[in-house]
Amino acid sequence: MTIGTESRPLRVAVVGAGPSGFYAADALFKSPLTVSIDAFDRLPTPFGLLRGGVAPDHQKMKSVGAYYERVATANEYRFRFFGNVAIGTDITIDELRTYYDAIIVSMGAQSDRKLGIPGEDLPGVHAATEFVGWYNGHPDYQHLTFDLSQETVVVVGQGNVAIDVTRILAKPISELRKTDIPEAILDQLAKSKVKNIHLVGRRGPVQSAFTELEIKEFGELEGCKVVIDPADMVLNAESETELNGETNTKARKNMAVLRHYVDEPKADGDKTVTIRFLESPVEIQGVDRVARIVLEKNTLTGEAGKQQATGTGTRVELDAGLVFKSIGYKGVAMPGMPFDEKSGTIPNTKGQVGNDPALYVAGWIKRGPKGVLGTNKPCSTETIETLLANVDQMPGCASPDPTAVEKLLEQRRIQWVSYADWKVIDQIEKEHGEKLGKPREKFTSAGDILSILRRVNA
Ligand code: NAP
Repeated sequence: MTIGTESRPLRVAVVGAGPSGFYAADALFKSPLTVSIDAFDRLPTPFGLLRGGVAPDHQKMKSVGAYYERVATANEYRFRFFGNVAIGTDITIDELRTYYDAIIVSMGAQSDRKLGIPGEDLPGVHAATEFVGWYNGHPDYQHLTFDLSQETVVVVGQGNVAIDVTRILAKPISELRKTDIPEAILDQLAKSKVKNIHLVGRRGPVQSAFTELEIKEFGELEGCKVVIDPADMVLNAESETELNGETNTKARKNMAVLRHYVDEPKADGDKTVTIRFLESPVEIQGVDRVARIVLEKNTLTGEAGKQQATGTGTRVELDAGLVFKSIGYKGVAMPGMPFDEKSGTIPNTKGQVGNDPALYVAGWIKRGPKGVLGTNKPCSTETIETLLANVDQMPGCASPDPTAVEKLLEQRRIQWVSYADWKVIDQIEKEHGEKLGKPREKFTSAGDILSILRRVNA
């Protein structure tokens, strides 16, 4: 029987219903084949980092959710969401092969990179990704506590996650209350005593990983000063070459904003963001908890475009009541699939895992934790092109009946969340949020979502 027809649709499982999963589903629906897609997520809610990672004060960025919503609803009879189902534990990858012709793993990067320095595990030292998950109401991070009674915070790394974390700490609570940060977390942020935030980069301003719009926002924050040591803005010859490079508009835009902070500093502000360059953390010190961070001054070495931070041996100490390590996300292994520990990705060729015609990857688990939500579109499209070219080689799954996987979940007593269920939750969150003058008031526990749905569906 030919796979991909009305009588025998191509059955695809998407593992991880975040942006890359939705772009993969979208690309499949746009193919000439008839497809039937089941998107699994270990959380009871869809959209991955759009819900749990994108900054809560960047609601415009979340409007792409309407696109993902259309993918799900415009293909109502061909798309199902199975939330609260953890592939790898509730159902293994090998078991999925029984029900699906192809499996696309798009589970993102669920961990963080380590600094590998003494003191990294002291209380008060956190991964920035944990803080992001916490203030975004992600169920995995709600048990964490962050000691916001501290006045001085050091954020290590200068990517956009570091910028998000710094901005949430620096933003007036009146502004944060308009976002979808959950009320319980707003109450803690309201008590924050954080005054001084140091944003530490190991390389120079030309090499910084943040982007113009994000760095510009600091200047617009009420009551917040931005401080940069003018000496850090002096560039070596290689950095000048990089800055003047034809394609380096990002660095030129960043530099213009940074120079503005140096040339026209704000006179007052009860909070200060100090952007520091050419410093690497070498040790985090403290007795019971973090008290300070030791930084080594760096110089840049290597040719233009490939400059590295090299320690000079000169050390500086910074008081630190809290430290956020924001040096990148890291993928975790999926049982039953190969994994490259160093890059935190599943090795693949244009999205295909090995020579297996049934196994694919998309998003951060495919290419590493880089890029904005939209970067996932071409990434997932490439994977789907590879998949479609392989359909003829697919042996076809043994059990293509769509009800078979539901029966398996019932047998295993797993309460899954359908897309219709999610819409119920979405509506409740929005209504609750409206009463509070915010976009939504999120449920922060999977248990709460499941018990509400049990009541609604009873
Ligand atoms: P990122 O952009 O890769 O930045 C990581 C930062 O950590 C860089 O400054 C890097 O410096 C530094 N770093 C890495 N290892 C280090 C070490 N051992 N010691 C000191 N510093 C170290 O990662 P991210 O901030 O987690 O962001 C992930 C992706 O999401 C990015 O593509 C980002 O643009 C995107 N994102 C976008 C938005 C937005 O659009 N608003 C918001 C959040 C995230 P080097 O450059 O020297 O390696």
